[in-house]
Amino acid sequence: MVIFKNINDIKNYISLKKDGKHRVGFIPTMGALHAGHISLIQKAKEDNVLAVCSIFVNPTQFNDKKDLEKYPVSTEADIELLLDAECDVLFLPSVNEIYPDGEGNFKTYDFGYLDTILEGAQRPGHFRGVGQVVGRLLEIVTPDHLYLGQKDYQQCMVLRKLAPMMGLNDLNVIICPTTREADGLAMSSRNRRLTEPQRVVAAVIYQCLVSIQSKQFTSSFDIVRKECEDLLAAKGFATEYVALADARDLTLLSDYKPHTPMVALIATRIGEIRLIDNMLV
Ligand code: AMP
Repeated sequence: MVIFKNINDIKNYISLKKDGKHRVGFIPTMGALHAGHISLIQKAKEDNVLAVCSIFVNPTQFNDKKDLEKYPVSTEADIELLLDAECDVLFLPSVNEIYPDGEGNFKTYDFGYLDTILEGAQRPGHFRGVGQVVGRLLEIVTPDHLYLGQKDYQQCMVLRKLAPMMGLNDLNVIICPTTREADGLAMSSRNRRLTEPQRVVAAVIYQCLVSIQSKQFTSSFDIVRKECEDLLAAKGFATEYVALADARDLTLLSDYKPHTPMVALIATRIGEIRLIDNMLV
């Protein structure tokens, strides 16, 4: 694996590889890597592309500065995991490398409706920051394939929209399934901050999603949502949303809709830790 910290160096390297007819797969991350991230690298390897991973904790997507300060960093361990996964390239830029003219001074995009609901509503400015950094990274890495995790469903939709906004009509956005712990908890860098008792109860989020999915023909969503909210509260969670949406465009649904691909989404906090998850219905 080759590690780059400078934009010019990685650009030159990728350009040479492209001259050699390599196709490029890009996996942007914020580090503190786990098996979910590694599944994206493995997918890129299966697709026979040059697997380029970036680790950059992007300050402009943290609406909560405390969350940024506490975001876990484990670069040495991350490198070991990437080596094991036979990742080809790691891009590890500094904040100054990505935002040389200051954090606010780089192109942003307007995601319209998608930025007004769920994560967009709960975390103002978050998708603006995500679009800004991924836009910047796409310009540097110039991938053919972009690998994203379904774990961040709304982010996948935002970034699917970003590609054509940047004129990248040939970029292939590949959404990979959520990797889970044995009890169903979606893997997340934030799970490392859970205490043991919090970790034990955190599987209830997955259980709620399963119940939303399994009761679609026997109950109304209103009733199931209330059950989920009560269950989460009983386990000590402060819930931001338990929502159902059209899986194609995230139009929020007040009830199950027959013959429609749907997605159930949950955002909830335990102590200081905010967790999100979703499931197709
Ligand atoms: P992050 O480091 O949290 O910004 O995540 C980087 C990428 O990994 C994003 O595309 C995430 O959706 C994806 N990802 C995070 N957790 C998981 C997971 N449990 N399973 C699959 N992909 C994931």
